[in-house]
Formats: sequence, structure tokens, C-alpha cells
Amino acid sequence: AKQRGRNNVQFYTADLQARMSRLMELENALRTAIEHNELCLYYQPQWALVGQRLTGFEVLLRWQHPTLGSISPAEFIPVAESSGQIAQIGHWVLKQGLAQLARWRHKGLDTLLAINLSAVQFRSTDLAEQIAELLESYQIPPECLELELTEGTAMEDPAQARLQLSSLRQLGVRLAIDDFGTGFSSLAQLRHFPVDTLKIDRSFVQDIDHDQGSADMVRSIIQMAHNLGISTLAEGVETARQLQLLQQLECEAIQGFLWGQPLDCASAETLLASKNSA
Ligand code: C2E
Ligand code: CA
Ligand code: CA
Ligand code: CA
Repeated sequence: AKQRGRNNVQFYTADLQARMSRLMELENALRTAIEHNELCLYYQPQWALVGQRLTGFEVLLRWQHPTLGSISPAEFIPVAESSGQIAQIGHWVLKQGLAQLARWRHKGLDTLLAINLSAVQFRSTDLAEQIAELLESYQIPPECLELELTEGTAMEDPAQARLQLSSLRQLGVRLAIDDFGTGFSSLAQLRHFPVDTLKIDRSFVQDIDHDQGSADMVRSIIQMAHNLGISTLAEGVETARQLQLLQQLECEAIQGFLWGQPLDCASAETLLASKNSA
């Protein structure tokens, strides 16, 4: 048993070392990702359930490295957060996203872009100023930008979050709470957040058609949001059955593979053009 215990420690150590060196590799590679043009944005359509109307796109970051291949934002965003690189990357995403929106608007294509804010970005004291500058330089009406922060980020320090949300709200941008249901918001706290949209986390949405607990959870999130005058968007809708249930629960909007994968910018533009002229 003792021998085996020692082997476990060795395996554990080897595994830990492998993970550490992967983290360091990513952190190093990230340093030059922007200048080497390895980052790009994808756009996932968001739809109003009534009339199946395209309302906007969520901006999703992609990283294609020449030797490491394509790396998921779920893996590299946390690395960038702990190294501090997220400040630069987050700003790059806002700038590229708004630049793209400006190009679409020049072609007469109107839409909304939803952009993710990381926890570190959300805490930075000059965030509202950065966003005001970008909106100004690309001549984007503030209501065409929705900023998403996760429920977890909002709840780290609810009092501080309320202040930051109000200063963003004063710019006229829209605000969304992302991954809702995974954190521990109370109704009392949510009531004080000036947000427009609750995005119901995919983990509930994917189970609503076979798990009563998830269906009840989604129902009460939607009711609570509506009582507070907040609109709801269900994430990760993959099946017609999920869609039907969400319709019954009077969810306003969806996003998911059923009605649209994340698209590169040319495909997003084609979709947008077909919907704008319809
Ligand atoms: P998220 O903000 O919850 O984004 C939704 C994720 O769900 C995206 O994964 C999207 O591709 C995926 N998804 C959408 N519809 C479906 C569906 O029907 N089924 C399934 N299985 N998945 C679906 P992605 O692009 O890999 O992004 C993962 C996470 O990385 C995001 O989760 C977000 O937290 C983070 N992220 C992505 N881009 C950015 C960014 O620009 N800034 C920050 N801070 N975080 C980002
Ligand atoms: Ca999001
Ligand atoms: Ca989400
Ligand atoms: Ca999520």
C-alpha cells in the first residue's frame, strides 16, 4: 500500500507538471498571439423567439496557434486572466468587435453585438472610459452594444459590481448577466443590478426536456426575471423540444446550435444581410 501511495504521488506530480508546463506554454504563446494575428472573432446569432427574428450576435474569441493548434477560450481566457494579459486581449476584442460592427453599419446592416467581459476586465477602473472611447471612435450608438458578465463575476463583490454596472449603464449600453443559475444570486441582489438580460446557462437548458428539476429551475428564473422587468435568453438550445418548452415558459430569446453555430465574419454578414432585407 505504501509503495502504491508513492506511485500515486509520482503520477500526481507528473500530471501536475504536465499541466503547469501547458499553462506556461500557453502564457508564452499568448504574448505574441495578437501581433501574429492568431486571434479572431466568431459571431453566434441570437434570436427573438417571437417571429424567429435575428436580434444580434454574441462575439466569441478564437485562437489558432501555428503549432499548438486551435485552443478553446475556455482554456486560454483563465490563463490570460491570471497572467494579466486579459486586459490587452479584452480591449482587442472590444475594438475588433466594434470595428466590425461599424463596417456592417456602413453597409446598412444594423445589429446588436454582445461582448463578454472577463472578471479582471470588469474590475478595471477605466472600463467605462475605454468603452466610451471605442463607441465614439467607431460612431456606434451605445444601445447596439451589450456587455455580458457572468453571474460569478457579478457576485464576487456585489456592491462593487452595482457601481460598475451603473457607470456602464450611464453610457447607454445594454447589460447582460451570463451563465445565470450557476452562481448564488439572491433575488434581493439581482433586484439592484441594472441589467437588461439574463442569459440562462446551457447546463439547465440542455436538461429541460428530461429533467423536471432543470425545467422548474428555468421556469422560476424566467418568472423572477420578468417580475424584475428583465428579459431572458436561453443559451445552448440544441433541440426542437427544448425550444418548444422555452416558448411555453415565455422565454424571449435563444442562442444555440439549433438555430445557429458561431459563424466567421463573412458568414455572419451573409446571414445579417439576408435577415435585414427580409
Ligand atoms: P459563454 O460566454 O457561455 O459562450 C457560449 C459558449 O457556448 C461558446 O463556447 C459557444 O460556442 C457555446 N455554444 C453555443 N451554443 C451552443 C450549443 O447549442 N451547444 C453547445 N454545446 N455549445 C454551445 P466557446 O466559444 O468555446 O466559448 C467558451 C467560453 O469562453 C465562453 O462561454 C466565454 O465564457 C469565454 N469566452 C469566449 N470569448 C470570450 C471573450 O471574448 N472574452 C471573454 N472574457 N471570454 C470569452
Ligand atoms: Ca457569454
Ligand atoms: Ca454563457
Ligand atoms: Ca457557459
